[in-house]
Amino acid sequence: QAKDKGKNTYQFYDAELESSALAQLQIERELRDAIKSNQLFPYFQPKINLKSSEIAGAELLMRWVKEDGSYISPEVFIPIAESTGLISQIGTIAISAAYKQLEKWRKEGIQHLHLAINFSILEFQDSEQIALLLDKADTSNLGGENIIIELTESIFMQDKDKISKTMELLKTRGFSFALDDFGKGYSSFSYLQSLPIRYLKIDKSFLQNVTTNKQSAAIARSIIDIGHNLELETIAEGIEDQATLDYVREINCDLAQGFHLYRPMDSQTFNQLVIDKGMTTLAN
Ligand code: C2E
Ligand code: MG
Ligand code: MG
Ligand code: MG
Repeated sequence: QAKDKGKNTYQFYDAELESSALAQLQIERELRDAIKSNQLFPYFQPKINLKSSEIAGAELLMRWVKEDGSYISPEVFIPIAESTGLISQIGTIAISAAYKQLEKWRKEGIQHLHLAINFSILEFQDSEQIALLLDKADTSNLGGENIIIELTESIFMQDKDKISKTMELLKTRGFSFALDDFGKGYSSFSYLQSLPIRYLKIDKSFLQNVTTNKQSAAIARSIIDIGHNLELETIAEGIEDQATLDYVREINCDLAQGFHLYRPMDSQTFNQLVIDKGMTTLAN
């Protein structure tokens, strides 16, 4: 019996270790290879304009599908990419893919759609990454007008002067900014006011039970009001059912995305969707 117990304990310990340090190292090594062999690519999740019900654009969400078909979530590999410096290569994939998509649309006469790219704070402080954005804006002749850069509230904990200068520079070239996951972390209204932010994205945790919980509904409504009072456009993420969609429309939210509308999809499917929809209104 003691032997069995010992064995179990050992297995338990082994599993713990596996899920932490070793697993991290393993993922880091695999991530390096994945980047080299193009196993990392962006998916596109459409956003709709809640007034017109038309597609307004999409958010790029990085996907990693291994050769054996298994999927690793960005919630897992983005933090590892950040701590190992691989994040800049992921950013390069996203920026290149976004401009490739915009150039394709230009050929098809589609000019009104935006693409949103998630930037971790480390990428945003990386001057090479900013240089790449500016270079793409120039060489494509598209500027930054169709690109939204999504930053999280963690930017407020960093060197505010430097962040602010970079944001102002990119703004002069047409880029705009969304504050992602608003309300989830450290929110500061003074920064909201002083940084050139155009969109406020309400974190999906506030929208999860707006139809059943009065307090959640009140919080969501208040965030939309704050956004509008500060002359920001508001985006609701994580819309999972019709009732939530109806609610965010009722409280005058501007844009929405979520599984109930569209799941993230590959670039070909997204392109086809845009062409099929044309300028016609969606059923939702
Ligand atoms: P995020 O920027 O807040 O992206 C929204 C997340 O919510 C995405 O998860 C998306 O797939 C998911 N989502 C969309 N609609 C729904 C819904 O109706 N219900 C629920 N429950 N979830 C929904 P995903 O793709 O797993 O990405 C997770 C996070 O990883 C992102 O959160 C973002 O912070 C980060 N990320 C993804 N791609 C990139 C990237 O290229 N660069 C960087 N720096 N970060 C990225
Ligand atoms: Mg985002
Ligand atoms: Mg978000
Ligand atoms: Mg997030």
